[in-house]
Amino acid sequence: MYSSESNYSIFQDKTATGKKRDWKGKKVRSLLMAAHYEGLEKRTGAPYYGKKAEKVCDCAECLAFKRDLETGRLRLYQAYFCKVRLCPMCAWRRSLKIAYHNKLIVEEANRQYKPAWIFLTLTVKNVEGDDLKQTISDMMKGFNKLMKYKKVDSAVRGYFRALEITKNHEENTYHPHFHVLIPVRTGYFGKNYINQKEWTSFWKRAMKWDYTPIVHVQRVKGKKGIDAEAIEQEVRKEMEEQKAILEISKYPVKDTDVIRGNEVTEENLDTVYYLDDALSARRLIGYGGILKEIHKELNLTDAEDGDLIRIEEDDDDVANETFEVMAHWHVGIKNYIIT
Ligand SMILES: [Zn+2]
Repeated sequence: MYSSESNYSIFQDKTATGKKRDWKGKKVRSLLMAAHYEGLEKRTGAPYYGKKAEKVCDCAECLAFKRDLETGRLRLYQAYFCKVRLCPMCAWRRSLKIAYHNKLIVEEANRQYKPAWIFLTLTVKNVEGDDLKQTISDMMKGFNKLMKYKKVDSAVRGYFRALEITKNHEENTYHPHFHVLIPVRTGYFGKNYINQKEWTSFWKRAMKWDYTPIVHVQRVKGKKGIDAEAIEQEVRKEMEEQKAILEISKYPVKDTDVIRGNEVTEENLDTVYYLDDALSARRLIGYGGILKEIHKELNLTDAEDGDLIRIEEDDDDVANETFEVMAHWHVGIKNYIIT
């Protein structure tokens, strides 16, 4: 029993725009993920899953923030994150970090090169759980091949590539696909143009398939007939409007797509089993060409395996940021409390 409510208060964290940060929701989903890893340990007898269950269970148990006394905003400065690929808490932190990195990288690319941008979606046929891991390996190789084709190489300046996997729950199959953001060279919309059919046949050839995969290509549009600086602003605005960067910075699987509902079920255990096998110890995002160079120039850290505490790396300590807030996960209350 938690008799006296005056002993604690419920922790709250809001963004600059007043939106609530859902620490509690992510922690609840992470604990559910931990329960599935426990379930897999029982099912298989493999201690590997038990260890993962423990890690995920301990993720973000205690959060230490500094509060800016002027704005009242909180900045996380200490926490343990488990970094398990399928942990919803860590996936959330990673996608925030990737989105922040991509925003900086795109802005810098626009400043230096003023490229036009396209989005490419490269898909494969749905696969059974047992084939998922190998299919993803093949796609990684296929993607590298695709980027080296002469016509592609002379049309693009680089890429940001993100893997996403969705599940078809009716057919019990998996749908891995790549979302790719590409700055193209001057002339892409002229003599070096690659149309959707060509992208499709290049992807088919790179994957050595006998079937024709679905490929989407879409231009991120700026407006015509305005001066260069205005175009840059226009492109940036356009990209923000389309939520393009956020869209592509999502970490590969939605946790609500991995685990359906709020209980450990046989189907959920299967999904966790296959996705864990396919995604563990694998790089799921990648940068190439000028985007890779800019990532390096800006000294950005690794968003997948690096620090998940600091999202905005230029977010330096400020003098008036002295007030500490400690939030602990309370198992009984199922929320973060401040004691
Ligand atoms: Zn975690």
